[in-house]
Amino acid sequence: MDNKPTPILAGLRQRCGTCGEGKLFKGYLKLNDSCPHCGRDMTAADTADGPAFFVGFGVLILMAPFLFLVPMSPLSLGLKALAMVGVGAVVTLLCLWLLPMAKAILLNLQLHHKAEEASFEKPVNKSGS
Ligand SMILES: [Zn+2]
Repeated sequence: MDNKPTPILAGLRQRCGTCGEGKLFKGYLKLNDSCPHCGRDMTAADTADGPAFFVGFGVLILMAPFLFLVPMSPLSLGLKALAMVGVGAVVTLLCLWLLPMAKAILLNLQLHHKAEEASFEKPVNKSGS
């Protein structure tokens, strides 16, 4: 059976992008050193703050209208305060829910495309010409 997952679909399931089976995380955001199913080395990639940036930016775009609509609504001050607490709770929960998926997707994409740090050295020409 050769059902190789795409890095993004495997990332949404928080699974290894190579085999699609092994779990990427041993904690909430703590990565396994290698895939428990196929043994793929996970230490070669580092997503740094990329997932936090994308999740924070996406959730901000999604929830920003409420930051204007709630204060302008005809609700009483107490209900406005309650609604803003609700908006804050939704923002927090959305970020916490999306962060592992974003990290898994970025990690799988880095490993899939063999991304590495930029360097000033010329790439090795493997064709020999
Ligand atoms: Zn694997």
